[in-house]
Amino acid sequence: MKRALVTGGSGGIGAAICRRLAADGYHVFVHAHRNLDQARALVDDIRAGGGSATPVGFDVTDAAATSAELEALLAEAPIQILVNNAGIHDDAVFPGMRAQQWQRVIDVSLNGFFNVTQPLTMPMIRTRWGRIITISSVAAITGNRGQTNYAAAKGALHSASRSLSQELASRGITVNVVAPGIIDTAMSEDTFDAAAIARLVPMKRAGRPAEVADLVGFLASEQAAYISGQVISINGGMI
Ligand code: NDP
Repeated sequence: MKRALVTGGSGGIGAAICRRLAADGYHVFVHAHRNLDQARALVDDIRAGGGSATPVGFDVTDAAATSAELEALLAEAPIQILVNNAGIHDDAVFPGMRAQQWQRVIDVSLNGFFNVTQPLTMPMIRTRWGRIITISSVAAITGNRGQTNYAAAKGALHSASRSLSQELASRGITVNVVAPGIIDTAMSEDTFDAAAIARLVPMKRAGRPAEVADLVGFLASEQAAYISGQVISINGGMI
């Protein structure tokens, strides 16, 4: 059974991705940071439905803690599917943005990508098969007022993923980015009300976490073996 790690599995989109990958027959490491109880509850639910999952907790900005947790998992077997989904936003118009807001958002998304992806890469290469899928945002493509930090962090993930896809292509490993628009989770609730969604989204609704998970599930599958180095946006027609 292939093993998958989904960072931010305790969140809205991450939980849907965990459910989808478990339904597709992978063993899923459901990752959390502060809400480990939520990850544990999701694992119980996946197991009750006949799936296979384990909770795992660490702060992706803490390189030493991340590396220690991943080493423990890798001691059992490689992890061949990685979904870098953990992320935060902390919005402010640029002149008023505090340095801490800038650094923290970049730390979680971009440095978190490095801290989690790097230790998994060599074991994945040895198996000659892998999928690295990173969740970015439509804000990295269009820009978004008040989100210079978030768009910068997510945009850097596009460039990093394109470069990494070229390094790993000959080893049977694909590297792609999924850039969601407005998805119905706790993160978007405090930013977009119904009027904003109707104005910004041609489909006049937020996306569902399961719709993002279906795309991730496809990119993780055998059928997606020839798709690599791509940024695929799922946004109800926003761009
Ligand atoms: P949630 O806020 O529901 O989930 C965020 C997840 O990230 C949580 O599981 C959280 O873990 C984890 N996380 C946050 N900080 C850290 C950290 N330092 N270390 C480890 N994990 C951390 O957000 P969504 O599900 O909505 O978003 C998931 C991803 O999708 C994010 O990358 C987001 O930027 C992106 N996205 C979301 C959109 C939306 O409209 N919802 C639109 C576009 C992109 P815990 O709760 O356990 O602390």
